[in-house]
Amino acid sequence: MNLTGADAPRVAVVTLGGTIASAGPAGAPVQPTLGARELVEGLAAVAGVSLEVHDLVRVPSVEVTLADLFAVAERIGAARDQGAVGAVVVTGTDTLEEAAFALDLLAPPGPVVVTGAMRPPGTPGSDGAANLLAALRVAAAPAAAGLGALVVLGDQIHAARYVRKTHTASPAAFTSPSLGPLGEVVEGRVRLRARVGPLPGLPGTRPQPPFPPVALVGIGLDDDGRVVRALAGLGHAGVVVEAVGGGHVPAALVGALGDLVARGPVVLASRTGAGPVLASTYGYAGGEVDLLARGLISAGSLDARHARVALRVLLAAGASPAQVAAWFAACEAA
Ligand code: ASP
Repeated sequence: MNLTGADAPRVAVVTLGGTIASAGPAGAPVQPTLGARELVEGLAAVAGVSLEVHDLVRVPSVEVTLADLFAVAERIGAARDQGAVGAVVVTGTDTLEEAAFALDLLAPPGPVVVTGAMRPPGTPGSDGAANLLAALRVAAAPAAAGLGALVVLGDQIHAARYVRKTHTASPAAFTSPSLGPLGEVVEGRVRLRARVGPLPGLPGTRPQPPFPPVALVGIGLDDDGRVVRALAGLGHAGVVVEAVGGGHVPAALVGALGDLVARGPVVLASRTGAGPVLASTYGYAGGEVDLLARGLISAGSLDARHARVALRVLLAAGASPAQVAAWFAACEAA
């Protein structure tokens, strides 16, 4: 549905729900009920764009699936084929970083900007309209082309691969601890100060649903390994291990992790939130040198949640463990 007939650059908006689309009786808990038309009302003229809107689902973001995001990517592809210069995807903030990275992998090149809100519409200081307006401006900005999927909240522009939700409630919840924001929107102008290289291409066939299940297991102090050992019987196609520090687990877990490597790709990420998995520093059993030698694949600077999205997409493309390893290495080098 095209909302304005102007000659202005056309941006496709796809909405999935989240706080930005949530409402409820005064003072009561809110639920995602608002659709795309209600969210974009009045914004196209201010942003200087024409809009086509797609109301896909109205759900809390924890209910969004990779199949939903594949459908979003398809709609963005069709919109681009028909002349849209960019796309904005509106979703809940709880899983927004994963949705953005999935679209980085699945959507066609061109600005795909993901946004949401920390405060529901109609509440004091609600941030949805401002975030959506800034996202529309970035999606229509020629300077944003070639940067892959971006996340725009609080007038900051983040690369999908590095951004994280780092606060449960603050309107400034989104940060990129490894890099910082790529830029910002000030007085309506898109100002990009840094760029990230393109993601490496995916091996194999074009990924599409079903996306194979990948387990994410977090490791902590005095972990007895029973969750890691149980994984062997759960039928996942791959595993992401969120290890401590530079990529370390208790020595008691290395045997079970080695068994998992024999079943499918096991990716090693760090729980610290910034910085790459180490490669050559610690020589003890369960240290990163030991785990990588046992066949675990370094996530590089991707955190565990981003790594899990990438692994599911790679497996859907039919990538072998060697191809998975090569992709993560190329991603780190990009
Ligand atoms: N629970 C909400 C969601 O992710 C939070 C938000 O959108 O900010 O759907």
